[in-house]
Amino acid sequence: MTPMKLLQDKIAIVTGASRGIGQAIAVEMAAQGAKLILSATSIANLKDTADLVKAQNNQSCILTQANVAIGDEVTEVVKKALDTHGKVDILVNNAGITKDNLLAIMPEKDWDDVLSTNLKSAFLFSKACAKPMVKQRSGVIINISSVVGITGNAGQANYAASKAGMIALTKSAARELARRNIRVNAIAPGFIQTQMTNKLGDALKQKVLEQIPLGRMGEPKEIADVAVFLASEHSRYITGQVIVVDGGMVT
Ligand code: NAP
Repeated sequence: MTPMKLLQDKIAIVTGASRGIGQAIAVEMAAQGAKLILSATSIANLKDTADLVKAQNNQSCILTQANVAIGDEVTEVVKKALDTHGKVDILVNNAGITKDNLLAIMPEKDWDDVLSTNLKSAFLFSKACAKPMVKQRSGVIINISSVVGITGNAGQANYAASKAGMIALTKSAARELARRNIRVNAIAPGFIQTQMTNKLGDALKQKVLEQIPLGRMGEPKEIADVAVFLASEHSRYITGQVIVVDGGMVT
Protein backbone atom coordinates (compact mmCIF):
# COMPACT_ATOMS: atom_id res chain seq x y z
CA MET A 1 0.00 0.00 0.00
CA THR A 2 1.34 3.51 -0.82
CA PRO A 3 1.81 5.53 2.36
CA MET A 4 -0.55 8.48 2.86
CA LYS A 5 1.03 11.79 1.87
CA LEU A 6 1.59 14.33 4.68
CA LEU A 7 -0.78 16.96 3.25
CA GLN A 8 -3.19 14.77 1.28
CA ASP A 9 -6.06 16.93 -0.10
CA LYS A 10 -5.23 19.87 2.17
CA ILE A 11 -6.09 23.26 0.66
CA ALA A 12 -3.09 25.59 0.87
CA ILE A 13 -2.68 29.26 -0.03
CA VAL A 14 0.95 30.29 -0.70
CA THR A 15 1.75 33.98 -1.26
CA GLY A 16 4.80 35.08 -3.22
CA ALA A 17 4.75 31.73 -5.01
CA SER A 18 6.28 32.88 -8.32
CA ARG A 19 9.89 32.07 -7.41
CA GLY A 20 12.38 31.41 -4.63
CA ILE A 21 11.14 30.18 -1.26
CA GLY A 22 7.42 30.51 -2.11
CA GLN A 23 7.84 28.43 -5.26
CA ALA A 24 9.73 25.72 -3.34
CA ILE A 25 7.02 25.63 -0.66
CA ALA A 26 4.33 25.25 -3.34
CA VAL A 27 6.24 22.40 -5.01
CA GLU A 28 6.94 20.50 -1.76
CA MET A 29 3.36 20.92 -0.53
CA ALA A 30 2.07 19.66 -3.87
CA ALA A 31 4.42 16.68 -3.63
CA GLN A 32 2.76 15.91 -0.29
CA GLY A 33 -0.72 15.96 -1.82
CA ALA A 34 -1.88 19.54 -1.12
CA LYS A 35 -4.14 21.46 -3.51
CA LEU A 36 -2.74 24.92 -4.05
CA ILE A 37 -3.90 28.50 -4.46
CA LEU A 38 -0.87 30.51 -5.56
CA SER A 39 -0.53 34.28 -5.41
CA ALA A 40 1.84 36.85 -6.91
CA THR A 41 1.59 40.33 -8.44
CA SER A 42 0.82 38.82 -11.87
CA ILE A 43 -0.57 35.52 -13.14
CA ALA A 44 2.18 35.34 -15.78
CA ASN A 45 4.79 35.23 -13.00
CA LEU A 46 3.12 32.10 -11.58
CA LYS A 47 3.19 29.97 -14.74
CA ASP A 48 6.54 28.28 -13.98
CA THR A 49 5.42 27.34 -10.48
CA ALA A 50 2.11 26.02 -11.84
CA ASP A 51 4.05 23.74 -14.23
CA LEU A 52 6.30 22.47 -11.43
CA VAL A 53 3.26 21.82 -9.22
CA LYS A 54 1.52 19.89 -12.01
CA ALA A 55 4.62 17.75 -12.42
CA GLN A 56 4.39 16.80 -8.72
CA ASN A 57 0.74 15.87 -8.27
CA ASN A 58 -0.83 16.15 -11.72
CA GLN A 59 -3.23 18.78 -10.39
CA SER A 60 -3.85 22.29 -11.62
CA CYS A 61 -3.57 25.00 -9.03
CA ILE A 62 -5.55 28.21 -8.80
CA LEU A 63 -3.46 31.20 -9.85
CA THR A 64 -4.33 34.57 -8.33
CA GLN A 65 -3.04 38.06 -8.94
CA ALA A 66 -2.95 40.26 -5.86
CA ASN A 67 -0.95 42.95 -4.20
CA VAL A 68 -0.69 41.38 -0.75
CA ALA A 69 -0.68 44.80 0.88
CA ILE A 70 -4.21 45.64 -0.30
CA GLY A 71 -7.11 44.30 1.76
CA ASP A 72 -9.68 43.90 -1.04
CA GLU A 73 -7.21 41.99 -3.23
CA VAL A 74 -6.31 39.66 -0.36
CA THR A 75 -9.99 39.00 0.35
CA GLU A 76 -10.45 38.01 -3.32
CA VAL A 77 -7.66 35.41 -3.11
CA VAL A 78 -9.19 33.79 -0.04
CA LYS A 79 -12.68 33.97 -1.60
CA LYS A 80 -11.41 32.11 -4.68
CA ALA A 81 -10.03 29.35 -2.46
CA LEU A 82 -13.32 29.08 -0.54
CA ASP A 83 -15.51 29.25 -3.68
CA THR A 84 -13.51 26.40 -5.27
CA HIS A 85 -12.74 24.15 -2.32
CA GLY A 86 -15.06 25.29 0.49
CA LYS A 87 -12.20 25.54 2.99
CA VAL A 88 -8.63 26.71 3.63
CA ASP A 89 -6.41 24.37 5.64
CA ILE A 90 -3.00 26.02 5.26
CA LEU A 91 -1.92 29.64 4.78
CA VAL A 92 1.72 30.48 4.04
CA ASN A 93 2.49 34.19 4.33
CA ASN A 94 5.68 34.26 2.25
CA ALA A 95 5.53 37.31 -0.07
CA GLY A 96 8.18 39.85 0.83
CA ILE A 97 10.48 42.59 -0.44
CA THR A 98 13.59 44.46 0.66
CA LYS A 99 14.34 48.16 0.19
CA ASP A 100 17.62 48.50 2.07
CA ASN A 101 19.08 51.79 3.20
CA LEU A 102 20.66 53.38 6.23
CA LEU A 103 18.05 54.58 8.70
CA ALA A 104 19.18 58.22 8.51
CA ILE A 105 18.51 58.42 4.78
CA MET A 106 15.72 55.87 4.33
CA PRO A 107 12.81 57.38 2.36
CA GLU A 108 9.53 57.21 4.28
CA LYS A 109 7.97 55.45 1.27
CA ASP A 110 10.53 52.62 1.50
CA TRP A 111 9.62 52.11 5.17
CA ASP A 112 5.90 52.03 4.31
CA ASP A 113 6.31 49.74 1.27
CA VAL A 114 8.34 47.14 3.16
CA LEU A 115 6.11 47.19 6.25
CA SER A 116 2.92 46.83 4.21
CA THR A 117 4.20 44.18 1.80
CA ASN A 118 5.87 42.05 4.48
CA LEU A 119 3.83 42.61 7.65
CA LYS A 120 0.43 44.14 6.89
CA SER A 121 -0.02 41.43 4.24
CA ALA A 122 0.37 38.69 6.87
CA PHE A 123 -2.25 40.41 9.04
CA LEU A 124 -4.65 40.76 6.08
CA PHE A 125 -4.30 37.14 4.95
CA SER A 126 -4.44 35.76 8.51
CA LYS A 127 -7.58 37.77 9.20
CA ALA A 128 -9.25 36.61 5.98
CA CYS A 129 -8.38 32.95 6.67
CA ALA A 130 -9.08 32.99 10.41
CA LYS A 131 -12.85 33.14 9.91
CA PRO A 132 -13.17 29.98 7.79
CA MET A 133 -10.52 28.21 9.88
CA VAL A 134 -12.41 29.00 13.11
CA LYS A 135 -15.58 27.64 11.49
CA GLN A 136 -13.71 24.48 10.41
CA ARG A 137 -12.13 24.17 13.86
CA SER A 138 -8.77 23.55 12.16
CA GLY A 139 -6.03 25.33 10.27
CA VAL A 140 -2.34 26.11 10.04
CA ILE A 141 -0.74 29.50 9.42
CA ILE A 142 2.98 29.73 8.60
CA ASN A 143 4.68 33.13 8.48
CA ILE A 144 8.02 33.43 6.69
CA SER A 145 9.97 35.82 8.89
CA SER A 146 13.80 36.12 8.89
CA VAL A 147 16.74 35.81 11.26
CA VAL A 148 17.16 39.59 10.98
CA GLY A 149 13.77 39.90 12.70
CA ILE A 150 15.56 38.38 15.71
CA THR A 151 19.01 40.00 15.46
CA GLY A 152 18.34 43.26 13.57
CA ASN A 153 20.61 44.25 10.67
CA ALA A 154 22.37 47.49 9.74
CA GLY A 155 20.87 48.85 6.53
CA GLN A 156 17.64 46.90 6.95
CA ALA A 157 15.70 48.75 9.68
CA ASN A 158 12.46 48.55 7.67
CA TYR A 159 12.90 44.88 6.67
CA ALA A 160 14.06 43.75 10.14
CA ALA A 161 11.16 45.61 11.81
CA SER A 162 8.68 43.95 9.42
CA LYS A 163 10.12 40.50 10.16
CA ALA A 164 10.16 41.12 13.95
CA GLY A 165 6.55 42.24 13.59
CA MET A 166 5.72 38.93 11.91
CA ILE A 167 7.12 37.10 14.92
CA ALA A 168 4.93 39.09 17.32
CA LEU A 169 1.95 38.56 15.01
CA THR A 170 2.69 34.81 14.99
CA LYS A 171 2.84 34.57 18.79
CA SER A 172 -0.30 36.67 19.31
CA ALA A 173 -2.35 34.84 16.69
CA ALA A 174 -1.16 31.49 18.07
CA ARG A 175 -2.51 32.43 21.52
CA GLU A 176 -5.81 33.70 20.09
CA LEU A 177 -6.50 30.77 17.80
CA ALA A 178 -5.15 27.74 19.70
CA ARG A 179 -8.50 26.92 21.31
CA ARG A 180 -9.98 26.63 17.82
CA ASN A 181 -7.33 24.08 16.83
CA ILE A 182 -5.50 26.58 14.59
CA ARG A 183 -1.72 26.56 14.88
CA VAL A 184 0.40 29.58 13.93
CA ASN A 185 4.19 29.35 13.56
CA ALA A 186 6.99 31.29 11.89
CA ILE A 187 10.09 30.20 10.01
CA ALA A 188 13.12 32.48 10.27
CA PRO A 189 15.40 31.69 7.32
CA GLY A 190 19.02 32.82 7.25
CA PHE A 191 20.65 33.44 3.84
CA ILE A 192 18.85 31.44 1.18
CA GLN A 193 19.78 31.33 -2.51
CA THR A 194 17.02 33.27 -4.29
CA GLN A 195 16.58 36.36 -6.43
CA MET A 196 16.35 38.39 -3.19
CA THR A 197 19.90 37.45 -2.13
CA ASN A 198 21.33 37.19 -5.67
CA LYS A 199 21.30 40.95 -5.86
CA LEU A 200 23.80 41.25 -2.95
CA GLY A 201 27.36 42.01 -4.03
CA ASP A 202 30.04 39.26 -3.98
CA ALA A 203 31.97 40.93 -1.15
CA LEU A 204 28.89 41.03 1.08
CA LYS A 205 28.01 37.42 0.20
CA GLN A 206 31.53 36.33 1.17
CA LYS A 207 31.20 38.16 4.51
CA VAL A 208 27.89 36.47 5.20
CA LEU A 209 29.25 33.04 4.26
CA GLU A 210 31.99 33.42 6.87
CA GLN A 211 29.27 33.77 9.53
CA ILE A 212 27.47 30.54 8.62
CA PRO A 213 28.80 27.54 10.58
CA LEU A 214 27.52 25.09 7.94
CA GLY A 215 29.60 27.06 5.42
CA ARG A 216 27.04 27.63 2.66
CA MET A 217 23.86 29.48 1.82
CA GLY A 218 20.60 27.60 2.23
CA GLU A 219 18.41 26.30 -0.59
CA PRO A 220 14.72 27.20 -0.91
CA LYS A 221 13.83 23.49 -0.52
CA GLU A 222 15.42 23.53 2.94
CA ILE A 223 12.84 26.13 4.02
CA ALA A 224 10.04 24.31 2.18
CA ASP A 225 10.76 21.04 4.03
CA VAL A 226 10.24 22.84 7.36
CA ALA A 227 7.05 24.47 6.04
CA VAL A 228 5.70 21.01 5.12
CA PHE A 229 6.53 19.76 8.62
CA LEU A 230 4.79 22.75 10.25
CA ALA A 231 1.74 22.28 8.01
CA SER A 232 1.50 18.57 8.77
CA GLU A 233 0.21 16.51 11.69
CA HIS A 234 3.84 15.81 12.62
CA SER A 235 3.91 19.24 14.29
CA ARG A 236 0.45 19.02 15.90
CA TYR A 237 1.70 20.11 19.37
CA ILE A 238 3.76 23.06 18.07
CA THR A 239 2.28 26.57 17.98
CA GLY A 240 3.56 30.12 18.54
CA GLN A 241 7.12 29.09 17.65
CA VAL A 242 9.83 30.55 15.45
CA ILE A 243 11.90 27.88 13.72
CA VAL A 244 15.30 29.26 12.71
CA VAL A 245 16.68 27.66 9.53
CA ASP A 246 20.04 29.34 8.96
CA GLY A 247 22.91 26.85 8.95
CA GLY A 248 23.72 27.72 12.56
CA MET A 249 24.30 31.45 12.05
CA VAL A 250 22.10 32.72 14.90
CA THR A 251 22.27 30.85 18.18
P1 NAP B 1 11.96 36.55 -3.96
O1 NAP B 1 12.66 35.52 -4.74
O2 NAP B 1 12.28 37.98 -4.18
O3 NAP B 1 10.37 36.34 -4.13
C1 NAP B 1 9.47 37.23 -3.54
C2 NAP B 1 8.05 36.81 -3.84
O4 NAP B 1 7.16 37.76 -3.23
C3 NAP B 1 7.73 36.79 -5.32
O5 NAP B 1 6.88 35.69 -5.58
C4 NAP B 1 6.97 38.09 -5.53
O6 NAP B 1 5.99 38.01 -6.56
C5 NAP B 1 6.23 38.21 -4.21
N1 NAP B 1 5.84 39.60 -3.93
C6 NAP B 1 6.64 40.67 -3.71
N2 NAP B 1 5.90 41.76 -3.51
C7 NAP B 1 4.59 41.39 -3.60
C8 NAP B 1 3.35 42.05 -3.49
N3 NAP B 1 3.26 43.37 -3.22
N4 NAP B 1 2.21 41.34 -3.65
C9 NAP B 1 2.26 40.03 -3.94
N5 NAP B 1 3.40 39.32 -4.03
C10 NAP B 1 4.54 40.00 -3.87
O7 NAP B 1 12.15 36.31 -2.38
P2 NAP B 1 12.56 35.01 -1.53
O8 NAP B 1 13.98 35.11 -1.25
O9 NAP B 1 11.98 33.79 -2.13
O10 NAP B 1 11.82 35.37 -0.17
C11 NAP B 1 10.56 34.84 0.19
C12 NAP B 1 10.27 35.25 1.64
O11 NAP B 1 11.31 34.75 2.48
C13 NAP B 1 10.25 36.76 1.84
O12 NAP B 1 9.26 37.10 2.78
C14 NAP B 1 11.63 37.04 2.41
O13 NAP B 1 11.65 38.20 3.20
C15 NAP B 1 11.86 35.80 3.23
N6 NAP B 1 13.27 35.53 3.51
C16 NAP B 1 14.16 35.32 2.50
C17 NAP B 1 15.48 35.08 2.79
C18 NAP B 1 16.51 34.81 1.73
O14 NAP B 1 17.69 34.71 2.09
N7 NAP B 1 16.15 34.69 0.48
C19 NAP B 1 15.92 35.09 4.12
C20 NAP B 1 14.99 35.31 5.12
C21 NAP B 1 13.67 35.53 4.81
P3 NAP B 1 6.16 38.72 -8.01
O15 NAP B 1 6.69 37.65 -8.91
O16 NAP B 1 4.79 39.10 -8.38
O17 NAP B 1 7.10 39.88 -7.84
